[in-house]
Amino acid sequence: MYRFSRAIYRELVDDIIDGSSPGTGGVSNREAVLRACEHTVERLGRDRYSFYRPARRLILDIRPYFPLAAQARMRCVVEHYIASADEFLTAQLSEGFDLAGHPLACRALTRRSVPCQRVPLVHNGYCPSHQHLADEADQRLLASASRAA
Ligand SMILES: [Zn+2]
Repeated sequence: MYRFSRAIYRELVDDIIDGSSPGTGGVSNREAVLRACEHTVERLGRDRYSFYRPARRLILDIRPYFPLAAQARMRCVVEHYIASADEFLTAQLSEGFDLAGHPLACRALTRRSVPCQRVPLVHNGYCPSHQHLADEADQRLLASASRAA
């Protein structure tokens, strides 16, 4: 997955404002951008189903490190590569394995509180018997997203 964060960084590095920003403990702007890209891609791989609008999140995180004139291009680059990363992830998950090569299992617990072992659907990570949980999770995510906005 890091090839996606590195690709974003490589495309954007020349536009990053030189130096470091106040309150970062001397971390250079370039390093801050690289870390934010890596963090986003890492979380996408690990926590995709509860990561609401990852491209938008990353754009907000790194926007302060770019001059106004470079921000439109930065947004395009981020959206492009996060969409590619998501496509890659979808393809990988449709094979029935996670990024580490482990077989996928449903995200739900059974009535006996053990993890459900059935094969999940790619778009939400729940098996057909637990789709109602996916709907509830969506509702919660939307509610928390609208509170945050
Ligand atoms: Zn299940």
